Amino acid sequence: MKNNIRQFCFPASVSEAVGLMNRLKSKALIVAGGTRLARAIPPAVDTVVDISDLPLKHIKADKAWLRIGALCTIDEMEKSPLLARWACGVIAKTAGFGSNSFSRGMGTMGGNVVRAHPYNNLPPLFLALDAVVVGTDGRREKVLPFAELLKPEGMREFGSRYLLTEVRVPARTKKWAAASERLALTKSDWESYASCVVVVDRKGGVCRGGAIAVSAVIPRAARMARAEALLAGQPATEAIARKAAAAVVAELEELAAGSAAKAYAREMAGVLVRRALCEAFQA
Ligand SMILES: Cc1cc2nc3c(=O)[nH]c(=O)nc-3n(C[C@H](O)[C@H](O)[C@H](O)COP(=O)(O)OP(=O)(O)OC[C@H]3O[C@@H](n4cnc5c(N)ncnc54)[C@H](O)[C@@H]3O)c2cc1C
Repeated sequence: MKNNIRQFCFPASVSEAVGLMNRLKSKALIVAGGTRLARAIPPAVDTVVDISDLPLKHIKADKAWLRIGALCTIDEMEKSPLLARWACGVIAKTAGFGSNSFSRGMGTMGGNVVRAHPYNNLPPLFLALDAVVVGTDGRREKVLPFAELLKPEGMREFGSRYLLTEVRVPARTKKWAAASERLALTKSDWESYASCVVVVDRKGGVCRGGAIAVSAVIPRAARMARAEALLAGQPATEAIARKAAAAVVAELEELAAGSAAKAYAREMAGVLVRRALCEAFQA
């Protein structure tokens, strides 16, 4: 595999890393766990900036946020006692969907969301949890709703101009009910037919609101707004889960503009949403 790499840099601080990014611009390539990069190094790149030594491996909570550092590995998220207790353990469980021990052990949270492949497990999770992403260009901190990161402008800026430092999840989600589901041919397939994460704010058997995020079956993970609207103020029952699941399938059909491709995956996305909602209602 041919490339034009001439030097490897190992910055010890965030400011040193963004200094290199600012100075070298498109000649620099940020590497965290390195699991996504091996086959895709552009010819203009002559410097690899290996950020794996930066102090961005925290998982901690304060009154306002749960904060997950960009360099936490997927394994560390799966095994974190704090994440196992947050929103019915949905963060730890979803991290555990990772298809193999290599991508879970080396792959980082930051790499998973900055170049968010539709099969990646963390983008729908952070979308459903109303997370924000935090980055820096060395001069100022940039805080964006998670959905903005997934847009083409977000994808362009993070990794080139901005270094992702952490993802923040609102503290209010800690006690919310949640569940996630993924369907793939085998557990060791990265390629899923569909995946979903649901989060429900429930009181006394009634949904005060909920979030439903779907991925894999569409090019970019997305919230299903119409299905979410059906949940608000409704009793947390299987009947409402079925209605919301049908609305998800209809929304996915519209996004696919009647294409027959992935029809099975869209049906299965509905099944996964129904199951996840029923699980969250019973949690
Ligand atoms: C065989 C295989 C199986 C896989 N299976 C799964 C799976 O089941 N589920 C899943 O979700 N993913 C899977 N992946 C994808 C990948 O392993 C994960 O997405 C992983 O979390 C990527 O993290 P990384 O640290 O290795 O990223 P890297 O390869 O180091 O970086 C990926 C991109 O993000 C940028 N980047 C990384 N960190 C930052 C940062 N802090 N700030 C700005 N830019 C940054 C890099 O410049 C690069 O462009 C798989 C990959 C492979 C090769």
